[in-house]
Amino acid sequence: MREIPRIHFAHLPTPIEFLPNLTTDSNGPRLFIKRDDQTGLALGGNKTRKLEFLVADAQAKGARCLITAGAVQSNHCRQTAAAAAKFGMECILVLTAADLKSKLSSEVLSENPDMTEHKKIAAPDGNLLLDQLFNAKIVWAKPDQRDSVLQEYFDKAEQQGKKPYLIPYGGSNQIGAIGYVYAVKELLEQLASNSSLPYPDWIVFPSSSGGTQAGLILGAKLFEYQGRVLGISVDETAPVLQERVLNIANRCAEHIGVNVELSLDDILVDDHYLGGGYGVMGKNEQDAIRLFGRLEGIILDPVYTGRAAGGMMDLIRKRYFAQDKTVLFWHTGGTPALFAQKYQSALFSS
Ligand SMILES: *Cc1c(COP(=O)(O)O)cnc(C)c1O
Repeated sequence: MREIPRIHFAHLPTPIEFLPNLTTDSNGPRLFIKRDDQTGLALGGNKTRKLEFLVADAQAKGARCLITAGAVQSNHCRQTAAAAAKFGMECILVLTAADLKSKLSSEVLSENPDMTEHKKIAAPDGNLLLDQLFNAKIVWAKPDQRDSVLQEYFDKAEQQGKKPYLIPYGGSNQIGAIGYVYAVKELLEQLASNSSLPYPDWIVFPSSSGGTQAGLILGAKLFEYQGRVLGISVDETAPVLQERVLNIANRCAEHIGVNVELSLDDILVDDHYLGGGYGVMGKNEQDAIRLFGRLEGIILDPVYTGRAAGGMMDLIRKRYFAQDKTVLFWHTGGTPALFAQKYQSALFSS
């Protein structure tokens, strides 16, 4: 395996904890949780592990500005903005919102104080509040214009001599995924050094842009993890997500110089919990957030971990996992989104 530039700033290893109350309450397999909501970097999450490699690559290339894109409540954007601030770089975020009337940049908005969109931005909440605190420059785009706006602002930054570095959506490419290759190594080392931790037969987590799953699957192959890795899809059908994950995993294997054969059969995806679509909190997510809070004092987020944990609890009810097995829920973060007004009010609406 080739040595890849990395800057160590994540709080690792993240703890693994038993969930006794959930285990008893669900009358299912033994439940454990891996706390990647506590990776550090502005309230933590799975993007911290990816950014250790992405920021190192950016620095190696002499970049002085990070540019990326995401939804309004993107955890990836919040953590990228925090990393940029920490390493003295500029940050440009292209945030997508379906209800924008046209492509609007924050400069345009500040020149038009009467616009309703401006009022929305004047009182940012959740991740958006943190983006602004980290001094990211925010550009608004309609979802279908995301990539073209991203390219436009990348080119502009380049012309201005800012040396921008483009981080793909979700930080999911062959570089970001390395974070989760090493995360598997970390897990196996924790298991080897702590005899009170049972070996997890299953790893369950939310999967979306695919970098996390690609890294986990590649790491599982490389370091010979004996259990199964199940991604609960957040927003794509299984075939689309599997193809995406396979692609990232193969490119990652090539990038780190390892010879592993991966196929679609290695990539387990459950797409039964897409609900009302990306970012729409439904009963599945509400119930899971309340359950984890009430029984374990653990915070799940409305978009990713709420959906995946809800799916996992449903699979437990359906006896998908045998009762004598151990299931490790890999918490991927997202905490700040819970404090966005949109989700706060929806959480107790029914
Ligand atoms: C980005 C994110 C995910 C999804 O990870 P991918 O690597 O994009 O598949 C899951 N959970 C949280 C909280 C996230 O922010």
